[in-house]
Amino acid sequence: MLTALFGGTFDPIHYGHLRPAIALIKEVGLTQISLLPNNIPPHKPQPEATTAQRLAMLNLAIEDMPLFSIDTREISQGNLTRPSYTINTLQKWRSENGDRAGLAFIMGQDSLLSLPTWNNWKTLLDYCHLIICRRPGYAEKTDNVELQSWINAHQTKNSLDLHHSPNGYIYFAHTPLEDISATEIRKNINNQQSCNNLLPPKVWQYIHAQGLYSAKKS
Ligand code: ATP
Repeated sequence: MLTALFGGTFDPIHYGHLRPAIALIKEVGLTQISLLPNNIPPHKPQPEATTAQRLAMLNLAIEDMPLFSIDTREISQGNLTRPSYTINTLQKWRSENGDRAGLAFIMGQDSLLSLPTWNNWKTLLDYCHLIICRRPGYAEKTDNVELQSWINAHQTKNSLDLHHSPNGYIYFAHTPLEDISATEIRKNINNQQSCNNLLPPKVWQYIHAQGLYSAKKS
């Protein structure tokens, strides 16, 4: 069994997260995707929605999708003053699930390109595989020689490899290109533009009901 974690701020969750993730279930043969909302510590620029609101939107988004779940470890009490470093979460997951359990961490191409800014990024593959979703506007290759050679050393084109070892591979998925970002959604809402084709209707209704992302709160 291959478990997948999909980390993000999800401020708010949108179809740019959901459609590639849904496509991955079939393409890679995933049995479960856990959405992993991250914590941003108090001294950093905060998401516009509160942690409780981000979580509520995730719950609404996956209501009818049993293959999705939510992993709240990074936003649970006790963890809220610390940044959520993915490497720490992966280490914790490993210690709970053992060395033989398959784990993949899903991210968009933009996140892959930013990896050299992540804590202990080169050791991520000691704990999981990486599944990379295409994202419009982000190059397939990077000028960062260290990152590109690390990718080359670990890339597989065969998704079955992800099932045959518990960690260690990077797989570039053929997921649909969705030109959607949370930043653009927040901006559109603030400009009183509708975004209901960019995220699930229930999430859109919740944003509306809570007056989220709008300078003029209802
Ligand atoms: P923001 O615009 O606020 O930076 P975002 O839309 O990038 O937010 P995040 O919650 O930061 O959303 O993203 C979580 C993960 O989902 C990241 O790994 C990101 O690369 C990926 N992701 C977000 N949007 C897309 C998209 N349209 N296509 C593919 N991957 C995406």
